[in-house]
Amino acid sequence: MTCSRCGGLMLRTTLLDLDDDKVFADAVKCANCGNVEDRLILQHRRRNAAITQLVADAEAHLQLCSRSVADVTR
Ligand SMILES: [Zn+2]
Repeated sequence: MTCSRCGGLMLRTTLLDLDDDKVFADAVKCANCGNVEDRLILQHRRRNAAITQLVADAEAHLQLCSRSVADVTR
């Protein structure tokens, strides 16, 4: 796994709740720039990427369809 910010090596780390020393998140930290990513952030990014891909697919499909419709009516 590489850092999304700098492409550096991501190391597993644990985020601690300072109040009672309880682990509240498994996370990875970049050994290069210190960028921390936890599961929620990654899930959020993945969902956004999936939506972006869906929209891109739909637009490509629409363009294809409108092009074939234009060809037929010509
Ligand atoms: Zn980094």
